[in-house]
Amino acid sequence: MSIAERYAALRAEVPASVTIVAVTKFQPAESVREAVAAGVTDVGENYVQEARAKLERIRARKHFIGHVQTNKAKAIAGAFDLVESVDRIEAAEALAKAASALGKRLGVLLQLNVSPSERFGCAPAQAEQLAERLRAFETLDLQGVMAIGPIGGDRGEIAHAFETAAAVLARIGGGTLSIGMSGDWREAVAAGSTMIRLGTAIFGPRPARPASNNAANVRCL
Ligand SMILES: *Cc1c(COP(=O)(O)O)cnc(C)c1O
Repeated sequence: MSIAERYAALRAEVPASVTIVAVTKFQPAESVREAVAAGVTDVGENYVQEARAKLERIRARKHFIGHVQTNKAKAIAGAFDLVESVDRIEAAEALAKAASALGKRLGVLLQLNVSPSERFGCAPAQAEQLAERLRAFETLDLQGVMAIGPIGGDRGEIAHAFETAAAVLARIGGGTLSIGMSGDWREAVAAGSTMIRLGTAIFGPRPARPASNNAANVRCL
């Protein structure tokens, strides 16, 4: 199946109220153009270096979904419309400062940790406090919550993790619940997802990490 065929099939099955973000990490620019030509409205990238050239002339809403390193905040704030992965105050501070320098108000989601397989994300118990602090930044616009489901979890664990994310969103407020990837978007939609992030379901298997991102390829001798 082509990218256009996969996207059309997904768009027909996913409720119209749910935004599909096409996750383009490690995909060539050609595939991104193909996806946008097929009707994709939102694209997601994990690595700002990779995204800058690739997404420059792409007409779609751009989501940053990777770990926010504070030294990359300027580049992230400049290249993206929505940063889904704000999981700590230092990242928010750096993004707010960068957005201010750019004269822009940056959309953000609070990344929650609802899964033991995840390294990043704010603990649900601290989410309300972090949300309050995010709302204090004039140049950040907190729109909701993002979370990654348990990788390799059973269906029950996945559903439970997504229900936790939905409950946290209900507490902190906001209209966006970004949960669900290629392997678990059905559970996410059942839990109230408004935004699913699909890579392999749209593009097929991901190409290998480019050498520039792969520490194992760095020669030290
Ligand atoms: C890679 C990635 C996705 C997409 O993963 P697939 O399983 O290919 O759909 C979604 N969200 C985040 C944060 C990712 O890093």
